[in-house]
Amino acid sequence: MTVYGVLALQGDWAAHTEMLRGLGADVCAVRTASELSAVSALVVPGGESSAMLRLMEPENLLHKISDRIRAGMAVLATCAGVILLAEGVDPPQTSMGALGIDVVRNAYGRQVYSTIAEIQVSDELGAPPILPGVFIRAPRIARLGGDVEVLGRWRGDPVLIRQGCILGATFHPELTNDRRVHQHFLRMGEKAHV
Ligand code: GLN
Repeated sequence: MTVYGVLALQGDWAAHTEMLRGLGADVCAVRTASELSAVSALVVPGGESSAMLRLMEPENLLHKISDRIRAGMAVLATCAGVILLAEGVDPPQTSMGALGIDVVRNAYGRQVYSTIAEIQVSDELGAPPILPGVFIRAPRIARLGGDVEVLGRWRGDPVLIRQGCILGATFHPELTNDRRVHQHFLRMGEKAHV
């Protein structure tokens, strides 16, 4: 059985853990390199990417997670997580470069402009075609690489994407009752594990 890790240094890791457990997954918190090596799939949650970068330093987790992703580990990256995986970040900030996109941080405005949006999702997510998503100081995807598929859009912008074993959401799918993004990630995790 796949063991799912949730990077639990900062941000919204607890809600991801609860949602994945509610779907019957085996879930562990990941805060160290040895905890990372014990999981076969990982959530990199939303929060504050600059704070997470600092907290990852002592165990060199940014590079260790990046190496695992390049070796095929399934990942669900949300909001700050997408920023950490991106190739390009504006304003410039260290990132893994594992996901072929460029992002602009805080591009939809300040915390007070946080919103629950209706995201248009592809059939792959199952019915209905609208998925609710919470945007909190979200990044905007400004460039999409050739092998990045768009699974969801909001106001025309790509907000739910997949590239190989990486599922990325610029919003917070763990904050609504719609569990389809996590179900999709579990399917990717089971497949990657075989
Ligand atoms: N603004 C945050 C950042 O730049 C991301 C916000 C979020 O994860 N909800 O890291």
